[in-house]
Amino acid sequence: MKSIVLGGGVIGVTTAYYLAKAGHEVTVIDRQPAVGRETSFANAGLIAPGHAYAWASPRAPKILLQSLYREDTALRFRLTADPRLWAWSLRFLANCTAARNRANTVRKLALCRYSQQVLIALREETGLRYDEVTRGCLYLYRDPAHFETGIRNMAVLKGQGLTLQAIDPERCVEIEPQLRHIKDRLAGAIYAPTDESGDALLFTERLARRCEDLGVTFRLGIRITGLEADGDRIARVVTEAGEVVGDSYVLALGSYSPFLVRPLGIALPVYPIKGYSVTVPIEEQHEAPTVGGVDEGHLVAFARMGDRLRLTGTADFAGYDTSHAPEHFAGLLRVARELFPRGGAYDKPGYWACLRPMTPDGPPILGKARHANLWFNTGHGHMGWTMACGTARITADLIGGRVPEMDLSGLTLERY
Ligand SMILES: Cc1cc2nc3c(=O)[nH]c(=O)nc-3n(C[C@H](O)[C@H](O)[C@H](O)COP(=O)(O)OP(=O)(O)OC[C@H]3O[C@@H](n4cnc5c(N)ncnc54)[C@H](O)[C@@H]3O)c2cc1C
Repeated sequence: MKSIVLGGGVIGVTTAYYLAKAGHEVTVIDRQPAVGRETSFANAGLIAPGHAYAWASPRAPKILLQSLYREDTALRFRLTADPRLWAWSLRFLANCTAARNRANTVRKLALCRYSQQVLIALREETGLRYDEVTRGCLYLYRDPAHFETGIRNMAVLKGQGLTLQAIDPERCVEIEPQLRHIKDRLAGAIYAPTDESGDALLFTERLARRCEDLGVTFRLGIRITGLEADGDRIARVVTEAGEVVGDSYVLALGSYSPFLVRPLGIALPVYPIKGYSVTVPIEEQHEAPTVGGVDEGHLVAFARMGDRLRLTGTADFAGYDTSHAPEHFAGLLRVARELFPRGGAYDKPGYWACLRPMTPDGPPILGKARHANLWFNTGHGHMGWTMACGTARITADLIGGRVPEMDLSGLTLERY
């Protein structure tokens, strides 16, 4: 079977891998000159079932409202005239009840855990290396009341069997000695010993090479302009370099997925939420952390990737604007210096901004809608690196007519 994967981010490339392994003839199309050049380029790198909480929560409406008039580095909600933002926000608000938050978190967690298993199996079978760290992640709290809330919230993940430990600052420093400078200002942490981190870009690039070994064709630097349907089937992809025809098509265009299917009458509730990322080199004299994690007070994630330290944060409602200026990263670098004063060459920052493809409830959109041969693998939001291998495997199983190892309820477009 000839399968066309639209998008060469971490989601498209992992999908291509599992399709090729299942014997498909696969073509990946992406507008960038290389794979993983958009959102998958410089994310925080956390493989984080221990952070699978859905963003739509009972606290979220107040936080969004406050961010309209407060300068907040973690969240910048702005209302614009974009009707897609309004539709998305209303759905988001509808998911802010305690019951929905719990259901969405449980669903995300199941997908994250399945995906991590698939990733570990892939690592074992291919020997692929991507600056991975498998010593867990630390979710740090500075404020005691916030720490108490964190401990209460983790019950939902623990209730599903995930190992999480509430630990004191002494134990934090045992796990990550480089936190010693801030120990006295920490209230504690939640340690997720089975969480991991790694460079999603390196993974995507190296997996793409494995894909080529399996016969996958990459058509890069080509913009897709449309999908043409014939009845209930997609007949072809239209690109700036001509038409591409296959038996099945996978939509993996991240935040841009909705544009391609809108002319076909499909409304995908995926909206971009911009994030910022800064990477600094780690030189001999530096004392960089080895364990990844999140400073929960500032919502800044950190991870070591070989000889680089990555920090990411901010949820900015800026539409499709990916521009950035050095002042946007001042907050990230300030938190980095507080946590790890000698963590890396903070005077040599590499800046990046990109768009999280967010669904209003949290889980991605898998399966298909009205076309028999158009499959969705999109809308992974803030956890696409964590969920990549699992959702790719599920998509390849669905296209191949196999029953996926995970129940798809709540993961398809039908839920909207
Ligand atoms: C700041 C930040 C930190 C994050 N940290 C983490 C983390 O720690 N852990 C985690 O699990 N996840 C994290 N994420 C989320 C994760 O990075 C994303 O969910 C994931 O990268 C999405 O992958 P994707 O392949 O769907 O999208 P993308 O990587 O954006 O890939 C989509 C591809 O489609 C291509 N494309 C789009 N339109 C067209 C077109 N018309 N024609 C041709 N090609 C097109 C693009 O070029 C792109 O390569 C983070 C995200 C951000 C922004």
